[in-house]
Amino acid sequence: MMTGAEYEASLGKLNLVVYMFGKRVADVGDDPIIKPSRKAVAATYDLAHDPEFESLATARSHLTGKKINRFCHIHQSMDDLIQKSKMGRVLGARTGCCFQRCVGMDALNALSIVTYNIDASYETQYRARFLKYLAYVQENDLTCDGAMTDPKGDRGYPPHQQSDPDMFLHVIEENEAGIVVRGAKAHQTGAVNSHEIIVMPTMAMREADKDYAISFALPSDTAGIIYIIGRQSSETRKLEEGTIDRGNQLFGGHEALVVFDDVFVPWERVFMYKEYEFAGQLVEKFASYHRQSYACKVGVGDVLIGAAQTIAEYNGTAKASHIKDKITEMNHLNETLYCGCLACASEGHREPCGTYCVDTLLANVHKQNVTRFPYEISRLAQDIAGGLMVTLPSEADFRSPEVGAWLEKYLQASPHVPAENRLRILRLIENLTLGPGAVGYLTESMHGAGSPQAQKIMISRQVDMHQKQQSAKRLCGIKEDESS
Ligand SMILES: Cc1cc2nc3c(=O)[nH]c(=O)nc-3n(C[C@H](O)[C@H](O)[C@H](O)COP(=O)(O)OP(=O)(O)OC[C@H]3O[C@@H](n4cnc5c(N)ncnc54)[C@H](O)[C@@H]3O)c2cc1C
Ligand code: SF4
Repeated sequence: MMTGAEYEASLGKLNLVVYMFGKRVADVGDDPIIKPSRKAVAATYDLAHDPEFESLATARSHLTGKKINRFCHIHQSMDDLIQKSKMGRVLGARTGCCFQRCVGMDALNALSIVTYNIDASYETQYRARFLKYLAYVQENDLTCDGAMTDPKGDRGYPPHQQSDPDMFLHVIEENEAGIVVRGAKAHQTGAVNSHEIIVMPTMAMREADKDYAISFALPSDTAGIIYIIGRQSSETRKLEEGTIDRGNQLFGGHEALVVFDDVFVPWERVFMYKEYEFAGQLVEKFASYHRQSYACKVGVGDVLIGAAQTIAEYNGTAKASHIKDKITEMNHLNETLYCGCLACASEGHREPCGTYCVDTLLANVHKQNVTRFPYEISRLAQDIAGGLMVTLPSEADFRSPEVGAWLEKYLQASPHVPAENRLRILRLIENLTLGPGAVGYLTESMHGAGSPQAQKIMISRQVDMHQKQQSAKRLCGIKEDESS
């Protein structure tokens, strides 16, 4: 297992084509905007070497019996699913942001199930190919990007009816050695921090869309793959001198648009090829695992609640009854989220291939709550923080010989707390609820792993309505025959 430092060094060997602000990024590892996101992934490596978290962050490979980082593991029991949720919370609290590595773990687990199921229906060899790939990922402790979301063009039309056929990633050529693909994947979390990119179809497909029903994995620096980094609000503060205005000084996240400009994929890396009936299954398995992964938001919630309590103490309001009530409400919402991710793990099941999978209904209920509760927790944090959070002058003014003393004097609240500490905690709350941290804590909670309506559809499909009606009818004496 690599340490965080070894992981960062290993990425240095990649020749990634990365663009940001209209220019090719010369040194991806050293770029001040990308670097904090790399540090966040590095935290997933360091956790595996922390004796306190060994059982959470490591597992035994079912392929080799070797100790591996849990992010490379295929869940072998319900306990594995539960440890995964707990690990997500710990890392969310350690980094205060998206630590990016879960998308790859969830893609590996989903493919472990679906490659088996395709082979059971056809005379294909996907399972053997996938296990060989998995062994490589585990042996080298790699980070994988889980690439599902296509640009999708006009949402009203399926892939084959788009005016531009590249709106969904598809195969354009096939030969003895492999296939050539064209298209893009949008919003890719941690893309330029990944050694590998695992591509999956974005939604259930029909026969007319079979050229789009493909899944494969490639090294992230394969010829023809281009990364264009997405903007995050106030991210250029990372380019300024000083650290206070950044809010989160240590970690961050990033997303990228990943373009596949006629990229060659050898057959041994192809895990689904036009078996369109299985595209929906792969999406459902990946989405369920990733909806469970949103235990990370509970950890980030821990940071925000800690920040809200701290600013209340600095402002001198911590003892007010409504402030105490609001902090309790924040904890209530955050722990409710934790219940959801543990529940879908505890109610998991064994798939025929041996991989353990979360309960789909409860994973979707959990993610539906994630689309709401962080917004309410953020609203309460902003309420407690006060308006200074958005009118605070910059760190440069605070350090200025001309006006710094005024800020030191007038921005102090409790006489026991230096103004600088108040600034620091306010900037952290701003980061998480309005700044770059809100990308991960709010909008990613809304749309990441699927927008709210995607979970509503799954919830309505998964609930056993017949059984609920039977319970009601039995209690009030309705006989089935009479009610029809
Ligand atoms: C921060 C962040 C990180 C992410 N990380 C990853 C990642 O690592 N890997 C990955 O694969 N994806 C990732 N995603 C993508 C995520 O899964 C998508 O954002 C999500 O599925 C929504 O897709 P969209 O953004 O294209 O929005 P849209 O599909 O445009 O949805 C916007 C709204 O339109 C509605 N809508 C869309 N289509 C229809 C329709 N046909 N009929 C009716 N209503 C419709 C939706 O329900 C929603 O309300 C990430 C997203 C975010 C924000
Ligand atoms: S949003 Fe959470 S679950 Fe998804 S990759 Fe980031 S940290 Fe992991």
